[in-house]
This record gives sequence, C-alpha cells and structure tokens, in this order.
Amino acid sequence: MIRTKIVATLGPACSDVETLVTLFESGVNVCRINFSHGTLDAALGLLRNVRIAAERFGQPVAVLGDLCGPKIRLHKVLDQGATGGMRVETGENLIIQRDPIDGQHGRVSTTYAQLIDDVKIGDRVLIEDGLIRFLVTDKSEHELTCKCTAGGILKSAKGINLPKTGVNLPSITDRDWECVDWACEHRLDYLALSFVRKAEDITTLREYLQDKVSDIHLIAKIEKAEGVQQIDSIIDACDGLMVARGDLGVEMDVAQVPIIQKDLVRRCRIAGKPVIVATQMLQSMIEQSSPTRAEVSDVANAIFDGTDAVMLSGETSVGKFPVGAVLTMAHVAQVTEEYLVTSEVDRAMEPKIRTTLAAGSLARGALRIVEDLDAKAVVIWTQTGGTARVFSKYHFPVPIIALSNDQRTLRRMALHYGVFPQHMPIVEDIGSVVAATEKLMIEKKYAELGQRVVIVAGWSPASAGSMNGLVIHTLGAPWTAVPTAQVMRQLLKAEKQ
Ligand code: PEP
Repeated sequence: MIRTKIVATLGPACSDVETLVTLFESGVNVCRINFSHGTLDAALGLLRNVRIAAERFGQPVAVLGDLCGPKIRLHKVLDQGATGGMRVETGENLIIQRDPIDGQHGRVSTTYAQLIDDVKIGDRVLIEDGLIRFLVTDKSEHELTCKCTAGGILKSAKGINLPKTGVNLPSITDRDWECVDWACEHRLDYLALSFVRKAEDITTLREYLQDKVSDIHLIAKIEKAEGVQQIDSIIDACDGLMVARGDLGVEMDVAQVPIIQKDLVRRCRIAGKPVIVATQMLQSMIEQSSPTRAEVSDVANAIFDGTDAVMLSGETSVGKFPVGAVLTMAHVAQVTEEYLVTSEVDRAMEPKIRTTLAAGSLARGALRIVEDLDAKAVVIWTQTGGTARVFSKYHFPVPIIALSNDQRTLRRMALHYGVFPQHMPIVEDIGSVVAATEKLMIEKKYAELGQRVVIVAGWSPASAGSMNGLVIHTLGAPWTAVPTAQVMRQLLKAEKQ
C-alpha cells in the first residue's frame, strides 16, 4: 500500500476507460482536469470516463478541476516558414499590440488588452514557461516594443509571464466562473485556483460556492511571488495547496523553487492541510520510457519533504508513456516510504501540528499507542474526512483505513498521505463499530486474529463532529460495549446516593 498519493493530469494520452483503469491500478488516486485546455464538453467526456473507470476499479478516485485564473496567453500566431509559428531571434524586436491580430512579421497580440497599460519600460515578458524572453524597451498608447533576449518560435496560445509587473487582471476570470459552475453541477471533489495572490482570491470563490450550496474543497496554486508572500493567510483560507513549480520557476528565481517547496510543504503539514508538489517531476518520460536520475531524486525528495501527493502533467496527458510514468512514480514512492518507516527518519520529523481539534490530540495519542503496542492499522470512522486529514499529517508507520458512508468524503480522502478510504455503512453504537472494523480487517487482510488495531470514532458514530474516542482492539478478542445511556444512568444513580 503506497502512502504517497499520485495526481494524474488527464489528456488525449490517457482519456479512454481502459487506460484510466490501468492508471488507477498503477497508483493514481486523483485525476486533474485542466480547464486551460479544451472545452467543457471535452471535460465532460473525460469526467464520464473517469467515473466509469473508477467504478470498475472499485476504489475512490478524486477529481480535481484546475481553473486557469489570470493566465495571459498569446492570441493566434500564424505558421510562418513551416515552423508551427513565428521565429524571433535573440536581439530582434517584437511588437505586442493592444488590438487583436493574427501574429506575424514580428507583431503579436494577447488575451489581455490592458497588458500595454500594466507593463513598464524595463519589465520582462516571458513566453512559454520563460523559454522565449523579452525586455520592454519602449511603449506607446497602443503597443510595446520588446527586445528579444532569448529567441525561439512563438506559437498560438502560449502562456505569458510578467514577473515584475503588477497585473490588474481579476483573480477569477469570466471563463473561470463558467468552469466553477460546471464543477458544481458535476460535483467535482476539488477545485484548484491558479495564480493565487491573496487569501481573498480563495474566500471570494468560497463565498460563491457557499451560495450554490457546494462544498467543493479549494486548492490554492502557489505560482507567484505575491502568493508566497501571503502564504499564511492563504493557507488559512484554503483547503490545500499546490506547489505549481512550472509558473513559480518563471515568476521567481528558479533557484528559489526547492526552498519554497520545502517551506510550503512544512507549513501545510503544521496547518493539517493537504499539499501537492507539481510539474516536471518525470518530464523526460513524456518522450522516454525511463526517468532521469534527477527526476527520481525529485520525486523522492518531495516525499522526504512530507508532501501528500506528487503530480504528473504532460507525462500522463500527452506523453508517450502515461502508465510507465505512474508506475515509476509509484515505485519511487514505495521505496522511499519503506526507507522512511524503517529508518525512523520520518518519526524524527514529527510536526507540531497547529490544531485545536480533538483530532490532533487523538492522532498524537494513537501514534504512541501504535508504536508501543505494535498495532497494525489505525481505523477512523469519519463523516467529513476531517479526522483522517489531520491524522495523515502524523505519518503513521501503519495504514490509516478511513471509513465513511459518504462517497464525496471517500473520494476527497484519496488525496491524503497514508489514508486508505473504504466505504462502510453507518452504524449507531460503538459495539457495532468494533464488530464491523474487526470483520473488515480480517476480510481485507489488513491485520490477523490476535493482532491489535486502533479504532478512532465518536461515541455517536453517526454524527459529524463527535470524534472523541480511541479503542485498542485485539482482533478476535471479546468486546462488550456498555451503551453510553446505561453508563450515564449508573453515574447519576451513584451521584444521588
Ligand atoms: C504549474 O505551473 O506548475 C502548474 C501546475 O500549473 P499549470 O499546469 O496550470 O501551468
């Protein structure tokens, strides 16, 4: 059982049901639909296939919709000289104009007309993840003159980054709102917002979702310096983070990316919220069947950092080896986790998790019990998944089996490190909790007769927010539950006497 969760971006290389089932069997827990590419009709096709494939797979798979946010792109660029676009050599000038045109002969336009107003002389304009770079040398009311400092071929719809420019674009665009409505209608599990700059970007989205009575969980993508500067309030506002290293490495000094990754992962662990490390993890596997040594180290190091999940982008969406990339990631995760558990390195890194929830104290207690009594699993009965989310941050040396009767909760928990969601009908009293846990442990071979498990549940297992009990149970040992009401009556009687 691999604890690290794998997020796979969907695309033409993996969108059929057969391939999706294989991806799930190989280790994918979360599917990412990137709204930057394709229509909502195409997204619906992907979603339908994911749901069919997940049904066949028989385990919960979460779906994460990724909103484009204020990403600026080139308008159409004509194919000049059979290059697929327009070549610009280092040292040449490029004109970026306000009014839309088909780009050609050294002149282009973008999806954001006010770019001409926001950019100042001396600012940098970076295209296609910073591969093609320009310095703004002149501007007039309707156009910018940009000197090319690193040449290449400009192609239609390529992304533009303006690292030093204060851009006045709204954080959530009209296209994003359309995608949000779609995500609510189709009950996605997570929504990621790109280029989050401040906590209000998330709270605005949250309020809109609340009005629509949607409880989609929100992931803040950190990919701009402003987002890094506001990180504490953003973590408070969101349900999880994505370290979006692609744009982050363009918007900021690329050498800062590993430091920011470690810092964000640590902060999420302390806050008890999930975090995904994303982009270029196995980039060479888009073309090659095996990874580079540096890529393997990158995946392992993200797990050492304490991430919940690692993400594949082009590797699964358009790559030649989508299944190979997932198998590679899963294998690296398995070997790294074995080392972390057996060497006790992970134990030494136990975080001081900032939580006033009972779940935090229960997790600390359960961890001690698992270690002292050699328990084989932690079993959490949860309504909302909140307890499993907090437990996951303690990196238990044994699996956390999270039971719920709520399909949405089960799918969401697929993102949490070390948590294995399982469907279980609701039961009314703690005796039934113990009996059902015992049956599941034996049937699924999580533990054997005579071995101990730690059960975490509320004394009223059917109601959310009642999480308050730990039971140490030896499988096969007799269990007699004294109903709470009976205990209360005895206490009251004793008090009166
Ligand atoms: C990133 O920039 O790393 C990222 C995940 O975002 P996107 O794929 O939307 O560019």
